[in-house]
Amino acid sequence: MKIYKSPYQLQLPSAPNSASNNKTISGCLLKFEFEDQVGYSTAQTWPEFGDPLLEDVLEELKNIKSINENSNSQIINNILSWAKMDAWARAQKQPLFDNKNIKNNYLVTDICQFDTQALSALNKKNISILKFKFGRNIAAETKVLKETSEFKKFKWRIDFNSTFSLDKIFTWLKQNPWIIDNLEYLEDPVPFNVREWSEIKSKFKINLALDIKVDEFIKIKNSETVVDIIIIKPFSDHVEALTQWALDKNIKVVFTSYMDHLIGQSFAAVIAHQHSASLGEQLLDCGLSTNHVFEPYKYTLNQANASKGIASNNYGVGYGDLLEFEPWELL
Ligand SMILES: [Mg+2]
Repeated sequence: MKIYKSPYQLQLPSAPNSASNNKTISGCLLKFEFEDQVGYSTAQTWPEFGDPLLEDVLEELKNIKSINENSNSQIINNILSWAKMDAWARAQKQPLFDNKNIKNNYLVTDICQFDTQALSALNKKNISILKFKFGRNIAAETKVLKETSEFKKFKWRIDFNSTFSLDKIFTWLKQNPWIIDNLEYLEDPVPFNVREWSEIKSKFKINLALDIKVDEFIKIKNSETVVDIIIIKPFSDHVEALTQWALDKNIKVVFTSYMDHLIGQSFAAVIAHQHSASLGEQLLDCGLSTNHVFEPYKYTLNQANASKGIASNNYGVGYGDLLEFEPWELL
C-alpha cells in the first residue's frame, strides 16, 4: 500500500473557540493506493483537546502496511476505514451519499463578530438551531446573544469547551435567566464531573451535551444520568460504540465534523447518514457543515451546491475531479 499526503491550511477570521488561539488550521488530505484501488481520507487534529499532533498521526500512518490494519489509535482506524470505504465506492462507481438530508445547526465560532441581520437568511435555509462557542468574553458574548433572542425561530446550543467553572455557570445563568427559554443545550459547560453536571441540571432544568473526551467520560458511573446528548465526531471517535451506548441509554446524538476540510466534513456526513436510520428520533440536527467559518478555498469555491453545504453527486465521497489533481507527495 502507498499513502500520499497533500497538506492544507484553512483560515479563520478569528480564533475558533475559547481553548484555541490559532486562526490557521492545518491538516492533510490523504490518498491510499492498495489492491488496484484508490481511496481518499483526511487528517486534522486538535491537540488542545487531547488529540495527538498531526505530525505524529502521519508518522504512525507511515508504519501502516495494510488498509485493514487495526491500530490502537481510533483516529488511525477511522482514517483507514474512510479510505477503504471511499475506494470501494469509487471502484463500484457509486456515491457514498444517499439523498437523505440531515439537518444541520449553524456554527458561530465568535458571536461578537456575528451579524444578527444574517438570521433571516439562515431561517430561509431551513436552519433552526444556532451553535455558539462561548467563554472568551462572556459579557460581550451574552450581549449579542440577547440581540439574537429577538429572532424567536432559533434554538441555541452554547459550547463552553469545558473552560468555565461551576460558580461562573451558576452566576451567568442566574443573571440571565432568559437564556434558558431559547436553549436547546449547554455543551461541556464545565469539565465533566457527574456531581457538578447534576447540580447544573437540577438547578436550571436544562439539557447538557458531552463532547470533549466523550468516549472516556461515558464510562464513568452514572454518566447517563447527567448527559442528555452526546456529540459524536466520526473522525476521532469510535462511532459504533458511542451510537450503541446512546441507543442503550436512550441518549440523544449529534454528529459533528471536525471543523476541517470539506472532504473531512463530507466523510463525517456519510457516517452520520449511515447511522440515521438506527438512531431515528434520537438523532438531532447535526453540526456537519462548517464551510462558512473559513475563508473560501478551492473546494468550497467549486462546490456545486453551496446551499446544501456537503452534497456531491460524485463517486465515493465526491470531489474526484479536484482530489485527483492535488500535489500528492509520498508520505
Ligand atoms: Mg464541543
